[in-house]
Parts: sequence; structure tokens; C-alpha cells
Amino acid sequence: MASEPAPAYAAGSMKPAIADGHAVTIHYRLTLDDGSIADESFGGDPLVYLHGAQNIVPGLERQLAGKKVGDAFDAEVPANEGYGEYDPTAEQVVPKTAFPPKVQLSVGMSFQTRARNGQQMPVWVRAIDGDNVTVSANHPLAGQRLNFKVEVVDVRKATAEEKAHGHVHGPGGHHH
Ligand code: ZN
Repeated sequence: MASEPAPAYAAGSMKPAIADGHAVTIHYRLTLDDGSIADESFGGDPLVYLHGAQNIVPGLERQLAGKKVGDAFDAEVPANEGYGEYDPTAEQVVPKTAFPPKVQLSVGMSFQTRARNGQQMPVWVRAIDGDNVTVSANHPLAGQRLNFKVEVVDVRKATAEEKAHGHVHGPGGHHH
């Protein structure tokens, strides 16, 4: 399917500030409070996301609003604006036999399950103890404060197609 070209800003125009409906390219490093680096794009491909489409955790999206190309900043995101508070009731112990026999189970792997309302939701393997597997609806980073170091690499208006899809197309984005 052909995509319309991304609208460009006229040369010499003011750098656009990040707002809803922009395709934004950033480099980031995510450090946890224990000093470990949970994720990082520096040195690799940057992250491309559609601002205002909940592609990234809400606390980071909120702090990126209004930023421009070249801006570099630290963003501290509390758990409730990150991957959520840790919910101990969202864990369940299930027998290994509940999984397809071909699946090599390991801690940290995720599965899509269907909730009672029919909605797909991810669960993560939190622990394996003999024949018992603890699965959790908590994201592995739930309950953690997220400390981001961010650099804004590119900001452009998203195409109508990208806005309709809720994600960015092209390099770093979705390919259909
Ligand atoms: Zn798409």
C-alpha cells in the first residue's frame, strides 16, 4: 500500500514543538533506581513513536510534549505513570501442563492471553518452581520508577495514515 509522503516543514521555519499528531524520533536510556540499565537506544536505532497515541509510557510522553529537535533532558517517571504499580493480586500459579509442550518456558517471557471481556492482555512468567509456573499481569517493570535520559532526534507531522493507525510508518516504525 502506498503511503503519502510525510509533510515537511518549510526550510527556515521554526522547529516544531512536540505535540499530539507528531512522529517523534528519540534516543533514550532507561535506568532503574538500583542503577541498572533496563533499556537503551543510544548506539543503536532510535525509537520512533506517534505522540498522543500511547505508544510510550504516559509519564515520558507527557514530559516530551513541547520539546524540540536537539533537546536533551532527564525524565523521572513514577511507577503510576510508567508500567503501573505492582499488583500482587495479579499473579497466578498455573501448572506447566497449561502451556503448549513445545514452549520452552523461561522467566521474563510473555504470552498473550484473553481476558474474560475478550480483550487480549499480556502476561509474563515471573517464576518457575518445578511443575508450577507463576504468571503475572504485572509488566516486569511495574512498581519501578523509570529514570530516562532522552535526546530528541527528529520531529515531524504524522501522516493521516499514521494517525489513523496509531503508529509511525517507515524507518523505525511499522512496516505492513
Ligand atoms: Zn500502520
